[in-house]
Amino acid sequence: LHSTQASAQKEDSGFKGHDMLAPFTAGWQTTDVNPLIIERSEGSYVYDIDGRKYLDSLAGLWCTSLGGNESRLVAAATAQLNTLPFYHSFWNRTTRPSLDLAKELLEMFTARKMGKVFFVNSGSEANDTQVKLVWYYNNALGRPDKKKFIARSKAYHGSTLISASLTGLPALHQKFDIPAPFVLHTDCPHYWRYHLPGETEEEFSTRLAKNLEDLIIKEGPETIAAFIAEPVMGAGGVIPPPATYFEKIQAVVKKYDILFIADEVICAFGRLGTMFGCDKYNIKPDLVSLAKALSSGYMPIGAVIVSPEISDVIHSQSNKLGSFSHGFTYSGHPVACAVAIETLKIYKERNIVEKVNSVSSRFQDGLKAFSDSPIVGEIRGTGLILGTEFVDNKSPNDPFPPEWGVGAYFGAECQKNGMLVRVSGDTIMMSPPFIISPQEVDELISIYGKALKATE
Ligand code: PLP
Repeated sequence: LHSTQASAQKEDSGFKGHDMLAPFTAGWQTTDVNPLIIERSEGSYVYDIDGRKYLDSLAGLWCTSLGGNESRLVAAATAQLNTLPFYHSFWNRTTRPSLDLAKELLEMFTARKMGKVFFVNSGSEANDTQVKLVWYYNNALGRPDKKKFIARSKAYHGSTLISASLTGLPALHQKFDIPAPFVLHTDCPHYWRYHLPGETEEEFSTRLAKNLEDLIIKEGPETIAAFIAEPVMGAGGVIPPPATYFEKIQAVVKKYDILFIADEVICAFGRLGTMFGCDKYNIKPDLVSLAKALSSGYMPIGAVIVSPEISDVIHSQSNKLGSFSHGFTYSGHPVACAVAIETLKIYKERNIVEKVNSVSSRFQDGLKAFSDSPIVGEIRGTGLILGTEFVDNKSPNDPFPPEWGVGAYFGAECQKNGMLVRVSGDTIMMSPPFIISPQEVDELISIYGKALKATE
């Protein structure tokens, strides 16, 4: 157990020590790093510059829901580029695609009635925008002290200063002097790792809701503005909520007049087998963040959906406070919006939720069948998202020594056998495209099984 994922590629790609300051990449300028260069994609597969084919078990980065070569999205982008490649949406000027997309999103989101949509370019920008919306809202209501945010340990909400502060992963805080002081973190709802001996899922959820309430009381409810959560935690290791968790958490935040923000950047549009994560867990959010599968990853675009109560306050108060002075040159970019509109049309026409549900048990059951492996602690997931955690002695308290690189070895074996997975320490994450076929699911399971055997 000494190989690394990077060294799985035997040949020099010709880009060792390249010129890019690469995101989330250690030592990019050393000759140890030999990047895998992806050149083209087709359905559930991607191909590197040497023509090697990989099953893309992460759908790009949890985003290419319609796979690698959906010609209708290319056509939508091309048509919009030929008509109007760009115009902004500031100062009461805008474009048709952004207006149409906002309308469509409000119609699609049915977990509760929502009011307005604000466009951004990414999930991080969506969550930064959430903070400014909530602060503006509380300032408008004359509650200048109600400004703190509660997020959760192991949450991932992005990597800009504020979204990284909301994120609950130490790697995104260390060396950057964050989290910002207005951000607090409460428990990660990972039952397998954190439950007490004999504690049921429901009791665990009750304890976490009580801890949240204690934190709110300690800080002063009049200082807490919002709580943010992913319906299923993604980058923190794919962690679905334990039974009754969101029911109990929502009761607490409601009691103290705290807004609920659902970060649906990964979960939305079918990933969990429902159109939105909020539908699956009966979440009634005040604000929602979207990105990724909104455009099937074909164009950078994100959105914030705002409840009518919040948008009404912002509209009615903007004479007093001034306009909501926030936005990006490319907020509501017409080409990105045109691609997103076509993406949503395809989801509807092809009944994407049913499509996900038609393969999700094959995917979940096929992979969870490996739970008995001596190096597997837990295999967890729902719909088309799944995490595997490797530990010693099947115990969450016995991690393998990091220098063994168990997760990296498994990832390298997958890559050698023609599949790309996401590796984070000894946790492996997968979220294949929604269009994955039953045969491709079987191939995915077979490569996973081979890699697991080799890693054992
Ligand atoms: N929120 C969640 C739940 C995410 O998973 C991510 C990215 O993976 C983000 C926010 C940040 O999105 P982006 O990378 O587009 O800024």
